[in-house]
Amino acid sequence: MRLRNVPGARENIAKHELAINEPEKNKGKWNEEFGNDNPIQLEIGMGKGLFLTTLAQENPNINYVGIEKYSSVLVRALEKCEDLELDNIRFIRMEAEYIEDVFGEGEVDKIYLNFSDPWPKDRHAKRRLTSKQFLGRYDHILKKDGVVEFKTDNDDLFEFTVEQIPEAGWVPVAVIFDLHSDEEHVKGNVMTEYETKFSKLGHPIHKVVMKR
Ligand code: SAH
Repeated sequence: MRLRNVPGARENIAKHELAINEPEKNKGKWNEEFGNDNPIQLEIGMGKGLFLTTLAQENPNINYVGIEKYSSVLVRALEKCEDLELDNIRFIRMEAEYIEDVFGEGEVDKIYLNFSDPWPKDRHAKRRLTSKQFLGRYDHILKKDGVVEFKTDNDDLFEFTVEQIPEAGWVPVAVIFDLHSDEEHVKGNVMTEYETKFSKLGHPIHKVVMKR
């Protein structure tokens, strides 16, 4: 993600009603935040939020939480929501490593990871959002039959992810090399900002769905 300093980004997030400033307080009771018992789905590393705001409009009976570590990017997602009057979406500015402090055991239905940072150096492998270390964290917050859905154009990260699945004791549900030419799996696909950009450049989009 190319970062620009957005003046006042932190302040805007702090006072925005869709941004949760003390997310640990909602741990185990996100249903109270949303005022219903609908399923909760996360996107970790949400960027400017096109994917999640589209899903929230399409599925009013699902609650969405977008997680992003940079305020300069997260404010763009908040701006997207301005005229949409959505009540099923919230945002958190946080580092995903601490996700277990924010969601309780089995509280989350599904986790989306889209175009996650590749961290190409071997010594940074555990920072990748599909590493066995992260899958271990998701294991705690995902409900029993919950899934993680991952999209990327990065061949190395795709390959790494497929290898991490058994290492973490998970199983693949679908491994798709070229999502956009796969008639069955592309149905209902919601594009992300990065997906649009990289598919225009001719990169095949890879997708992996995994569960325990
Ligand atoms: N999902 C978006 C953005 C992809 S870029 C899309 O597909 O268009 C990856 C995003 O993940 C960046 O905005 C980056 O800041 C965020 N990110 C990467 N690692 C993160 C982490 N550990 N915790 C929270 N956000 C993270």
